Amino acid sequence: MKLGFQRDEHSQNSLISFYGKCGEADLARRAFEQMEDDEQTKASWSALLAAYTRAGRWAECVESFGAMVRAGWRPDESSMVSALSACAHLGAHDVGRSIHCALLRNTARLNTFMSTSLVDMYAKCGCIENAAAVFDAMDDKNAWTYSAMVSGLALHGDGRKALEVFDAMVREGHRPDAAVYVGVLNACSRAGLLEEGLRCFDRMRLEHKLTPNAQHYGCMVDLMARAGRLDDARALIGNMPTGPTDTAWRSLLNACRIHGNLELAERALQELERLGATNAGDYIILSDMHARAHNRDAAAARRTEAVDRGLAQAPGYSAVEVHGATHRFVSQDRSHPRADDIYEMLHQMEWQLRFEGYTPDTSELALDAGEEEKRRVVAAHSQKLAMAFGLLSTPEGAPVRVVTNLRMSKECHAYSALISEIFGREIVVRDRNRFHRFKRGACSCGNYW
Ligand code: ZN
Repeated sequence: MKLGFQRDEHSQNSLISFYGKCGEADLARRAFEQMEDDEQTKASWSALLAAYTRAGRWAECVESFGAMVRAGWRPDESSMVSALSACAHLGAHDVGRSIHCALLRNTARLNTFMSTSLVDMYAKCGCIENAAAVFDAMDDKNAWTYSAMVSGLALHGDGRKALEVFDAMVREGHRPDAAVYVGVLNACSRAGLLEEGLRCFDRMRLEHKLTPNAQHYGCMVDLMARAGRLDDARALIGNMPTGPTDTAWRSLLNACRIHGNLELAERALQELERLGATNAGDYIILSDMHARAHNRDAAAARRTEAVDRGLAQAPGYSAVEVHGATHRFVSQDRSHPRADDIYEMLHQMEWQLRFEGYTPDTSELALDAGEEEKRRVVAAHSQKLAMAFGLLSTPEGAPVRVVTNLRMSKECHAYSALISEIFGREIVVRDRNRFHRFKRGACSCGNYW
């Protein structure tokens, strides 16, 4: 007779699920690894993937999904949904598309849940056309489907289409909820549709009887501030029933940068300090603005302040997906095995750009460095390294997809636009806030971001 702890695959699977629901992905992984290979079932894998998704560990989710397939398992619906949402977060387009292909091969008809996950994945991976194609082919859309499509269009800055989809949703008899209104208001603010945004905000309260939450107010502040109505935006922050949030003040700060209002920017920073919510990026915006206004001392002071407060800037990186693998770069990165080729490519890109009469705009770079040094730093920016590697490693004519956690700089925007023209490539960049899609020298954002 065996004494002590008895475990079978069912109890072990429940344990993995339990850890997953508690957000303990490492414990879930350990419980999974304690099972012998022949004890693991589809349900164990599925529980493991769900645990990673829940904990926001997207890369590990995609990795485990690959391992599951290699181990000979045919993934079930819940595993695929986990993997698709991980792809959406990572911008891992190739993996996402291969899941879509597998679904088409193995499933007679995609259900609403799966199709909606696909819409979300394609939109977040920069393929808004594919998202729209899946969306259009669905005959059983629910409110969640519309919501995914509206937010996707918002990410791509296509405010007009987002409003059309929203109207269709209402026409079809779906009741808009708070989530879809976040998408709608975001779409208006990113596309600069001020009047439409104000109208939607009214409609939300009066027609659909929804009480706007902090997120909705944040969108409205962003909408007005970007459109240049800085004072109105500031007044709205003061009137937020939920109390001012750091997101709202940060939107105002960003808009002050765009519209060059240093005085209000200082005020926004003070408010962020009062909320105890400043990050290094906030001080850098102020420092850049002072540098532009030739207040060298104030610029330096703001940078020192960020250091004194112990605020580290999140390390900036850019990633590019090549043949299903993600390659990450930081600024001045030389760690990639093909670094020499990448820098050679970068050199060629710069050479071609100079030929076109392009000179880098280094004004956004608040460094105490000479012009030459600034140019060197600008040249080896992580986004350009990722782009160079993408151009090098993907076939002629294929789009290059870059994901970055940085804010797209003006310099990089102009640079990417020209590269798309010179190399005849579509370049899709997902920055911290949205997508930029460069085609034949122009960006889908129409330079409004
Ligand atoms: Zn753009």
